[in-house]
Amino acid sequence: MKIFQNLNFVLVETSHPGNIGACARAMNSMGILNLLLVNPKEFPSKEAEARAKSGKKVLEKAKVYKNINEAIGTSNLIIGTSARSRSMPWPMMEVSNLGKNINESLANKDEVSIVFGNEAVGLDNEDLGKCDFHLQIPTSKDSSLNLSHAVQIVAYEIYRESFSSDLIGQQREVDLATSMQKEKLIEHIETVLELLDFYDHKNPKQVPARLRRLTKRMQLDKLEIGILRGILSKLEDRLNK
Ligand code: SAH
Repeated sequence: MKIFQNLNFVLVETSHPGNIGACARAMNSMGILNLLLVNPKEFPSKEAEARAKSGKKVLEKAKVYKNINEAIGTSNLIIGTSARSRSMPWPMMEVSNLGKNINESLANKDEVSIVFGNEAVGLDNEDLGKCDFHLQIPTSKDSSLNLSHAVQIVAYEIYRESFSSDLIGQQREVDLATSMQKEKLIEHIETVLELLDFYDHKNPKQVPARLRRLTKRMQLDKLEIGILRGILSKLEDRLNK
């Protein structure tokens, strides 16, 4: 029996408890047991339990969070799922690479989170901005899938690829930074840029969002974050003198 440790499925602001149950069932069938719920409209719920069937144990150990930052704070690789393309594109993860990437990351002892949005509005830009990659499951027309169907497809891709023989599971030299460490770095860059009066507030050119994307794309490790934070702290000291 295959059970994935260190792999979380995060459902953000799910409206229908039945969907939460259906997601738990889909996850359980693929050995993924860590369900994190961010502000669910109704949970716990009888309807969720009824829909979960054999996935009841996933519901029983599900954790509820007030915001997405708390749910993904300790994760090293975060993938946001959305049917919608964005005017400012985020680094894309192809479905065909998903299983391999995630299984290799898990073999390297990373904590991985996959984030799913609300049924009506999906993931907003701010939530997608917290993710390292955007995963778009191709569909025949530009239509979105039911939440639990998207969960099933992602879970199956991860499960299927976990049996592959060419996964590279070597130890990293230094662990990848966590989401929280990257968020702190982004905050620090913004503080120093404010001190420098760098922002042209009349013509913002999406600078903060672009810097955020750059930071996510670099896949920084803990040591690199430490060096960058050290440089920023020195700059901050000088600017405050
Ligand atoms: N109207 C919403 C759709 C939400 S569907 C929107 O425009 O985004 C609920 C969730 O299922 C989405 O937030 C996403 O996490 C997942 N999902 C649905 N279809 C998907 C697709 N084609 N690719 C990736 N994720 C998808």
